Formats: sequence, C-alpha cells, structure tokens
Amino acid sequence: DRRYERGISLNAASKHFGGVLAVNRVSLSLQEGEIHGLIGPNGSGKTTLLNLISGYYLIDQGAIELDDATLTQSSVQRRAALGVARTFQKPRLLGTLSGLDNAMLGGWKDARSGFMQNLLALPAARRQDAQLRARALEILHAMGLSHIVDKPASLLDHAEQRFLEIARALCMQPRFILLDEPAGGLTEHEIDQLANIVLAMRDAGIGVLIIEHHTDFVFRICDRVTALNLGSSIASGSAAEVRADPEVIRVYLGA
Ligand code: ADP
Repeated sequence: DRRYERGISLNAASKHFGGVLAVNRVSLSLQEGEIHGLIGPNGSGKTTLLNLISGYYLIDQGAIELDDATLTQSSVQRRAALGVARTFQKPRLLGTLSGLDNAMLGGWKDARSGFMQNLLALPAARRQDAQLRARALEILHAMGLSHIVDKPASLLDHAEQRFLEIARALCMQPRFILLDEPAGGLTEHEIDQLANIVLAMRDAGIGVLIIEHHTDFVFRICDRVTALNLGSSIASGSAAEVRADPEVIRVYLGA
C-alpha cells in the first residue's frame, strides 16, 4: 500500500523509439510550490520525459499519477484540464495575433468550443472572454510585459516570445508548469528576469519542472534536481547534492 502523495509522480517510466530506450525506468515527483530541475547531456531523455508527463507520448511501462488518480493513459487535453501546462523549446505563438490574444489562448478551458462560442458572440462566452482578458492583462503586467499587449507576436524579440509563452501557460491557471529550456538564447540579464518569474510562480504555489542546459541557472533556483544520462536517472536530490555527485560531475560537467 502506497503512501498517498499530492502532485505528479512518475514511477519507473520507460519509453522507447524503435531500438532506442529514450527513458529507462525513471521515477520522479513534482509537488506544488517547488522547482524541480532536469539536467543531462544531449540525448539523455529530458524532452522525452517532459513529453511523457504532458501526455504528448504515452509511457511504454511504469505509471504516472496526479494526486491519487492515474494519468498513464490520459490525453494531453485531459492533463491540461487537470492543471498541467507546458512551454516548448521553440516558442509556438500565433504571429499575427497580439501579445494579449496569444496569452488569452492559454485560458480557454475548452479551447475549441470557447473560441467558437466567442466568435458567435454568445453571452456566456463574452463573459468568459472578459474575465480571461482581465487575467491575461494582469499576468502580462506582473511579468513586466505591458509593452507587448498590443504588439503582434511576430514583432517580438526572442526573450519577449519566451516570456509570452510562459504568460500563455499561466493563463491556464495551472497547478504545474513544464518549461523546456526556457533560458535558451537569453542574455544574462534576461535569465535573471526569468529566474524572478520562475521563483514568483513557485511562491504562488505552482510546481515548476525545468529542463535546462544552463546548469548555473538550474543550481541557483531549483529546490530539487534530477540528472539523467542515457535515459536513466543517475542522481536526484537538492541542487547542492546533485552538483557534488561524482557521477554527475563525470558525465555532465565533464570534470
Ligand atoms: P534530450 O532532451 O535530453 O536531448 P531526448 O529526449 O530528445 O533527449 O532524446 C532521447 C533519445 O531518444 C535520443 O537518443 C533521441 O534520438 C531519441 N528520440 C527522442 N525523440 C524521438 C522520436 N520522436 N523518434 C525517435 N527517437 C527519438
């Protein structure tokens, strides 16, 4: 009999692509109000693991749970509805839509019907639209993105696009957010801004999983870190523990 634990837990999850075992019996958990970093060299299975949690891929073996419910066979949409949001390595924004409209797209609980009803101008949809607009504006202001509210996404610079993707995920009012290399291509100053945003999300009670190459950033802000190599978890613990782990130093930090 298993101890009841809130949050997301992955138990001995495996995923292969043809002959490649991309994720090999990995267990990890993500609780609300914590930042969990996932590090490892290229090809170690980080993105696959994130895709297994978001439901983009289903696991071959093992189990994935949210609180006391199984997610093992649940769709991306079902997991999103339960509060699991994500961002992508390459921001996926609609270039002709404004920053505000892109952010609002994250908030439709039932994206298709909400959007359709809104086009048809049904009263309930108009109310939802007004609430969502207010929430999106609040999030953009809080993130220091007031200047992009009316700008088409195609005119935003790289950092603005990355932050807007996070704003869109936050508009979903998620319990958990999965960030795929959010610091990629950012300057040191922008990474500091990102760190403040991630810490604020944690303080708001959101559980944050971060895949990141930039290990200084991970060790600086994460409460817990898991290191992967060749699809397997080789170390997991506090940032200080993982940073000092001899196996991590050998395979990843190259010392
Ligand atoms: P990381 O994110 O750590 O760089 P990935 O999860 O992208 O690692 O990849 C882990 C392994 O799985 C690699 O060997 C990669 O080539 C393989 N892989 C990932 N996605 C696919 C896919 N869709 N089809 C085939 N192989 C894949």
